Amino acid sequence: MRIEKCYFCSAPVYPGHGMMFVRNDCKVFKFCRSKCHKNFKKKRNPRKTRWTKAFRKAAGKELTVDNSLEFEKRRNIPLKYQRELWNKTVEAMKKVESIKQKRRARFIMNRLKKGKELEKAEAINEVKKNIHLIRASHAGQAKKLEEKMVQKLAEDVQMAD
Ligand SMILES: [Zn+2]
Repeated sequence: MRIEKCYFCSAPVYPGHGMMFVRNDCKVFKFCRSKCHKNFKKKRNPRKTRWTKAFRKAAGKELTVDNSLEFEKRRNIPLKYQRELWNKTVEAMKKVESIKQKRRARFIMNRLKKGKELEKAEAINEVKKNIHLIRASHAGQAKKLEEKMVQKLAEDVQMAD
């Protein structure tokens, strides 16, 4: 079963609808309704009749180059090939989805990283600012303690990364 296109207006011609005219040179013309058939009999040119697809395309009012037009292309290829094509399409869609997810994850990770870096800088700043408190309580070991704490903070951040 095939949905044909109207010769005149390019509308779909469903089974059991419209008219088919076979010229004496075997060319087949299909019409979606009597309106199109009558216009054809009047020898009107579909490219010059304003309400047809042919006119709209010729006048630049409709897409002429687009991927979506591939879908309704007339195909004389068996179903097996079409299934392969479908599988390929599904594969491509899955790939796109996985790439999207990876990007989303990377975006979130980058944001987390930035937050961690800010936290680290703040922590180090605070230690530096309040080092006199540590010095006062541990008079002798202050310098060592400061170094140790900075090192430990850095390690913590690294591990979190
Ligand atoms: Zn028509």
